[in-house]
Amino acid sequence: MARPYNFAAGPSTLPESVLKRIQSEIMDCGCGYSILEASHRGAVVMGMIRDLRARIRSLLNIPENYDILFCPGGGHMQFAMVPMNLLGAGTLSTYIITGSWSKAAAKEALRFGRVQTAYNGSGTRVPGDDEIEINPETSYCAYCENETVHGVEFKVPPSMEATPSVPLVADQSSNFLSRPVDVSKFGLIWAGVQKNFGVPGIAVVILRRDLLGLASNEVPMMLNYSVYSRSESVMNTPPVFALYVSHLMAQWIEEKGGLEAMNRLAIERSTIVYDAIDSMPEMYTGHVEKDSRSRMNVVFRLRDEQLTPVFVKEAAAAGLVNLAGHRSVGGLRASLYNAMPPEGAVALANFMKDFAHRHPLNVTVPVAGGN
Ligand code: PMP
Repeated sequence: MARPYNFAAGPSTLPESVLKRIQSEIMDCGCGYSILEASHRGAVVMGMIRDLRARIRSLLNIPENYDILFCPGGGHMQFAMVPMNLLGAGTLSTYIITGSWSKAAAKEALRFGRVQTAYNGSGTRVPGDDEIEINPETSYCAYCENETVHGVEFKVPPSMEATPSVPLVADQSSNFLSRPVDVSKFGLIWAGVQKNFGVPGIAVVILRRDLLGLASNEVPMMLNYSVYSRSESVMNTPPVFALYVSHLMAQWIEEKGGLEAMNRLAIERSTIVYDAIDSMPEMYTGHVEKDSRSRMNVVFRLRDEQLTPVFVKEAAAAGLVNLAGHRSVGGLRASLYNAMPPEGAVALANFMKDFAHRHPLNVTVPVAGGN
C-alpha cells in the first residue's frame, strides 16, 4: 500500500530510502547486532558520531573555530542552555520575537536574567533590519529563523553590523540543513532534528569556540556546552538511535546534492502550495506577508472556517495527512521539510483545487491586502 504524504510539523516525514535502510540494518548494524544494542563508547557508535559531525561540518561548510555538539532534550532544553551558557557575567539577553517559538525562548531566558525585546511581532512577518534595535550591552541576540507555528521565515539573518561584538544565536529547528548558511555570521546555531534531519532526541548545536567556558559553576554538567565539547557529546549515554537516524539523513542529503539541492526543492514545494492559495483567493487565505513566507511551513485558512475539519478529513482520505493547523492559530498547515517529495506538494495543490470545486464559496474577496 502506498504511504500517505505526511505534512506533520515534527516529528515528520522521513525519506522512504532512510526508513528502508533502518529496516534493513535494525537487526545488524554491521557488527553482528543492532545499533540499539551497541555500547555508546564502542567503536561503532563513536565512529558514527564522529562521522556525523564531519558530515554536518562539510554540508554547512562550518569553519574550524566552531564546535558541533549533540545535546539531548530537544528545543526546550536549548531555550534554557543558551542563557545558562552565554549570559556569562552579564545579566541581559536580547530576543527578536516573530512567533510562538521565539516567544517561548524569551520567556525561558527570563529565568536567568533580564530580557530585551529587539522586535515584537505578531507572527505575520519578520522584521527588516531597520526595525530591530539591539542593546549593545547585551550578552547575545537570539531569534528563530523559521517559526514553525506561524509560518514566517527569515530570508537572511538579521544584520549585526551595528553591534558586531554581540553573538547572534539562531533557532534553526524547522529549517536546519534546508539551505546553505554562512555560519561565520553566528555565535551559535541550534536545531532540534525531528523535522529536517531525523527523529526526536537530540539538538545539534554549532557553537563558536570562544563562547565555550562562560557558564558558571552552578550550571549542571548536563546543561554546560563545555562538557559536551570536551566529551565529544558522549559525557553520558546519548540517544544513540536519534544520532543514527541523523547520520542516515546526512548521507541522504549528500546523495540528493547537498544544501543547494535542498533549497531548490524547498522553494519548488512551497511555491506549488502558495500558488494554489493565491490562485483561489475566494477559497483560501494566508496570513503571512509574502516576503516572510516560510519555505517549510505553509500556514493558511479556508475563508469559510467551518469547512476546516471537512478539509482535514477529506485530505486524509485522499492520502494527505496531518494538515490541521497548530492548536494556537487554527486553520491549516502544510509542513514541507527536506524529506517531502515535490509530488506531495503537487498532490496537495490538486486536492485544494478539487476541494474548492466541490465546496464553492460565494464570498467577496477584498481587492487590496498584502498577504
Ligand atoms: N523551536 C522551534 C522552531 C520548533 O519548531 C520547536 C518544536 N516544534 C521547538 C523550538 C521546540 O522543540 P522541542 O519540542 O524539541 O522542545
